[in-house]
Formats: sequence, structure tokens, C-alpha cells
Amino acid sequence: MTVIIDGRACAEKILENIKIKTSKLNKKPGLSVILVGENPASKVYVKNKEKKAIEAGFNSNVYRLPENTSKLELLNLIDKLNNEDNTDGILLQLPLPKHLNPSDFLDKIDPKKDVDGFHPINSGKLLNNEKPYVIPCTPKGIIRLLDEYNIEIAEKNAVVIGRSNIVGKPVSMLLLNKNATVTIAHSKTKNLIDVVKQADIIVSATGISNIITKDMVKEGAAVIDVGIIRGEDGKLKGDVDFNNIKDIAGFITPVPGGVGPMTIAMLMENTLELHLLRNNLC
Ligand code: NAP
Repeated sequence: MTVIIDGRACAEKILENIKIKTSKLNKKPGLSVILVGENPASKVYVKNKEKKAIEAGFNSNVYRLPENTSKLELLNLIDKLNNEDNTDGILLQLPLPKHLNPSDFLDKIDPKKDVDGFHPINSGKLLNNEKPYVIPCTPKGIIRLLDEYNIEIAEKNAVVIGRSNIVGKPVSMLLLNKNATVTIAHSKTKNLIDVVKQADIIVSATGISNIITKDMVKEGAAVIDVGIIRGEDGKLKGDVDFNNIKDIAGFITPVPGGVGPMTIAMLMENTLELHLLRNNLC
């Protein structure tokens, strides 16, 4: 029988734990989020992050900057937050408006405050199988879900569909570091069906609805759906043809309620970890 992975329940448990640990600290961990412009999805994500940070007992600061913010203004804010004692984690919400290039800013965030784990020092440590200051939230949340459901990673075939710097590449490294045999597929991959069919673990992160169909899934495989797509009916869906796959997969994440809540829980966990690190408490 297929197990539907409950990301919401798992995230709630993690958040409760964070709240308890935070309540015992002398100083509150601080999360500062920078939102530039008016992207509607980003505004919702940031509001949600703010709410969860407050619930966790953190100091939450959101810097909402206008669409026409200049490169210098954004760099100055990052510099200020790098030097501000009350800020443990800095998150630059992506995407940025077109005139601002993320790579001009992500490596300006202090790696010890880089709560998303996107700084080259943190991604480099992941690549070298060393411990980064923090691990990117969505990939970390995916591995935590696999662990939580006792899904074996070592010696398994994992296929990751998508090679972005925020999901596909880091989750591939984490799976590799845990001794999976990892294949990374992308838009130029030939015979996606045959590639995915080999997988014991499928992680799909494309943002293309129903790209993973029943004929691609080996019986008993664990299917992790990272995609978030807003359908014409206004409802959220993922990359995976959930209804047709749910009876052949061993494990499957729903959208919503799978990877999404784990991403936020990991953001809070990373903020706490950076606070403990900066205050020599771990
Ligand atoms: P992205 O940067 O747009 O990357 C998409 C990837 O999909 C690219 O590597 C692309 O390949 C690949 N792709 C596109 N068409 C393909 C095809 N026909 N066959 C195989 N691969 C294909 O997206 P992202 O930032 O990684 O996000 C992916 C999805 O996850 C989005 O829906 C996003 O909203 C969602 N997401 C969810 C969470 C969460 O918390 N649940 C967090 C982050 C992102 P190329 O590199 O060749 O173009």
C-alpha cells in the first residue's frame, strides 16, 4: 500500500521542537527577510515565513523594498544586516526584479548568516561533503522527510529531475553524500521515461505539471514532488500525476502538504542553528 508522506505533520513536529528550544534561550534568534518588489507569490511566501518565525519565538524583521531599488541600496542593506547583532539569518527572497542579478547579492551575505545556504562557501562545502553552516531549506526538508519515513537512501538509485541551484543540484549532492547513485535529469535529457524508471527515489523539481507519469514510476518507488504550480482553477499542484501514481509508488508526497511545509520548517531550523553557532552554543 502506498504511504502518503505527511509533510505538514512532520513540519509541525519540527516547529514545536524549535519553539521549545527557543524558549530556553537567553536571546531570541533573529531572521531578517528582504523582499524587493511586488511579486505576488513572493509576498505570500514572505508573509508565511514571517508568521512562522514569530510563532517560533524569533525576532522577525521583513524589509519590503520598492521595485526600483538600486543595486547599491540592496548591497547597503545586506551589509547593515551582516553587521547587526540581532540578525542571525538573512534571506533574500528570489526572484529579484529583472534589473537586479541574484549572484551580485547572494555571495555578499555573511556565510554564517546565509540562512538559505546559497552562498558559494556553503554550496562549496556541500559539494566537498563537508558540513556547511546550513543546508539549503528545500533539499534539507526532502532528506528529512525520507529519513522520517525510514526510506533507505544508501545504495539506492535516485533520479532528480531539475538542476537548479536552489533545489536540483543541492538535493542531488545530499543524496550522493548519503551514498545514493544519483542521476540528474533536465530539459535536455533524452528518454526521460527510461531514466526515471530506474529510480528507487524520484525527486521532481521542474514546475511542469504532470511531467512525472505512471509509466515512469517503478513499483514501490519513493516519489518526492517539489513542484508548485497554480492551476487554472486556482488550486496548487505539483509535477507528479498524483492520482495515477499513488497506487504504484511506495511513498509519495502530496502538493500541497508535502515538501512545501518542510521548506519553511527548515528555514526556522537553519535560523536557530545559525543563532547557536554565532553564540557558541553548539
Ligand atoms: P527552475 O530553476 O525553473 O528549474 C527547473 C528545472 O526543471 C531546470 O533544471 C530545467 O532544466 C528542468 N526542466 C524543465 N523542463 C524539463 C523537462 N521537460 N524535462 C526535464 N527537466 C526539465 O525551478 P526551481 O527553482 O528548481 O523550482 C522547481 C519547482 O519547484 C517550481 O515549481 C518551484 O515553484 C518549486 N519549488 C518548490 C519549493 C517548495 O518548497 N516546495 C521550493 C523551491 C521550488 P534546464 O536546467 O535544462 O532548463
